[in-house]
Amino acid sequence: MSDTRVALVTGASSGIGEVTARRLAEAGFTTYGVARRVDRMSGLADSGVQTFAMDVTDDASMVDGVQRIIDEQGRLDVLVNNAGYGSYGAVEDVPIDEARRQFEVNIFGLARLVQLALPAMRKQQSGRIINISSVGGKFYEPLGAWYHATKFALEGLSDSLRLELAPFGIKVVIVEPGPIITEWNTIARDGLVEISRGGAYEERSQRIYKTMERGDTGWAGTDPDVVAKKIVKAATARHPAIRYPVGKGAGSLV
Ligand code: NDP
Repeated sequence: MSDTRVALVTGASSGIGEVTARRLAEAGFTTYGVARRVDRMSGLADSGVQTFAMDVTDDASMVDGVQRIIDEQGRLDVLVNNAGYGSYGAVEDVPIDEARRQFEVNIFGLARLVQLALPAMRKQQSGRIINISSVGGKFYEPLGAWYHATKFALEGLSDSLRLELAPFGIKVVIVEPGPIITEWNTIARDGLVEISRGGAYEERSQRIYKTMERGDTGWAGTDPDVVAKKIVKAATARHPAIRYPVGKGAGSLV
């Protein structure tokens, strides 16, 4: 078994996950960064992060990925469940298949990885599961219903899991970022227009989109490194908080 603590970060090909994987490696963890776009992780590989492809909607991909880490290191200490996204639009307009896809990535993929990581963590009698939720897991806005539904679900799942795992010495931490500058903002914004074009609430959604474009909502956001540093704190603090709100708007949650 490796003497160095081992971390796995999902969604490491961009944004919060990419910076987090780099920061965990700097903090001394043997770090694995995974995502579907392996080509986008070559920079991370250069900074000592081990990278490979994982799709959190593909069971075999998750089973093989976790097994590979256990085979190579004999342990898994920190799981950062970061992969996630949101596409916006009126509930009346968003196709149910798209809503299901958000749940597949943001909830079911995350929960499956927890299942796969737990046997090693229980054997070690220690471990940290760090779930990246959002301020959107605590409050809500119009046209964001499905994203909020996934993140509210994540908050409940994580809180229940924390109680379930406490007897095994495994800690569950929730990180709740406000708006952060990543690719996701563009996807969410463009997704809003895409789904709402010609939809039942077009006039209203176009108004919200224009507000986003002006940056009035704070979508311009915070640097992802601010979140990455909190995640490292959640991974390393002897007694981590159960929640880390971080970024604009997050203070109002405390
Ligand atoms: P990015 O779009 O920059 O990164 C999302 C990451 O998730 C990518 O690396 C992507 O990799 C990965 N991902 C998406 N779908 C899958 C999948 N099916 N399998 C594996 N990986 C997947 O977004 P952020 O960094 O902003 O988002 C990271 C997390 O932070 C998300 O959970 C998001 O909800 C949360 N968050 C973000 C906020 C923000 O303002 N940016 C605010 C609050 C929370 P690839 O496509 O290569 O698979």
